[in-house]
Amino acid sequence: MLCGRINIALSEVVFMSYNEVRKDYLLDRWVVIATERGRRPSDFAKKNRQQQSSSSVCPMCPSNEHMTPPATLVYLKHGNSIKKTKDKDSLRHKDWLIRVVPNLYPAFTPPKDKITHKQIMKSKELALAVGHHEVLVESPNHSEHPADARLPQLSLVINGYVDRLRELSKKPYVQCVSIFRNHGLEAGASLSHAHSQIIATPFVPETIKEEMKASRQYHGKNKECVFCNMIERERKSPRAILENKSFLAFAPYASTHPMEFWIMPKKHQTSLLMLKQIEMKTLAETLKTCLGALKALVNDPPYNYGVHQTTNKDANKHYHWHVEVYPKLAIWAGFEKSTGMYINTVTPETAAESMRKQISA
Ligand SMILES: [Zn+2]
Ligand SMILES: [Zn+2]
Ligand SMILES: [Zn+2]
Repeated sequence: MLCGRINIALSEVVFMSYNEVRKDYLLDRWVVIATERGRRPSDFAKKNRQQQSSSSVCPMCPSNEHMTPPATLVYLKHGNSIKKTKDKDSLRHKDWLIRVVPNLYPAFTPPKDKITHKQIMKSKELALAVGHHEVLVESPNHSEHPADARLPQLSLVINGYVDRLRELSKKPYVQCVSIFRNHGLEAGASLSHAHSQIIATPFVPETIKEEMKASRQYHGKNKECVFCNMIERERKSPRAILENKSFLAFAPYASTHPMEFWIMPKKHQTSLLMLKQIEMKTLAETLKTCLGALKALVNDPPYNYGVHQTTNKDANKHYHWHVEVYPKLAIWAGFEKSTGMYINTVTPETAAESMRKQISA
């Protein structure tokens, strides 16, 4: 008996001295949670962050509308409501609330004529970059980033995402619409004006494809949505950050980035198209609260976020949209690049705890 007890104690000691290697809920993606290095979120609060150059004229600021191609969507204030319109030829609407313009240096461009999927996918190794690449200017105020945005303004941004998603996903050559945001120079935002990007692609990119495949398999086996299941487990876990009527924000179990968090709708929904007006407001609120906490904790870090979603009807039962937020606080170096495995020096449990404290402060 005594011997057994010692054995257990010893094995615990041995176990405790190792870092955990955690697997993503769905993907075959592993991360070393390097608790031995045990870094606190405040360790990442850099004093001097690299700033975008402010010397040149901002093409996204009001009265510089002529510096961009005609907007595909403009929101104008119309009494107490919003008028939705677009620019045409040389006309540029002024006094806008948000505007969406084609990217001046697009990665994907619309086809000039009708084009088939076969013509786009030239071979197994080559496809034509047919699609759309747009910039959503989030506010006439240069620095109205989500962490500091007025809630009605941020709700318009979410509305804008939904409107563009609806329009772009209808195009016969578009299979996926990716909505994302780069914040700060180190996260790839070359212009500092508050903006998001939308890229519509003629095929489903790898990460979404893998999530769709794994969630389909899970649904086949368990007859439930793996994301709905994730929400049930994580809302009661030490990784929960905040929960309101419509959303749960949490630090994922196998976070690859320090301070990473995801936001998920509690209702089973496959894309932003399923959001009700009130839910768009709550999403804006959730995003602002979480990004605001991150900003306060780590001194406005660079970050990327992306909406993972699908408008493919076949995925209705098993896929569940979500936002993944990746603060850029660590540099991925030789190990990550050569193995596809990650090292995260802040445990998701620590990240969630500091976010919760910051939010309730
Ligand atoms: Zn500007
Ligand atoms: Zn679900
Ligand atoms: Zn995802």
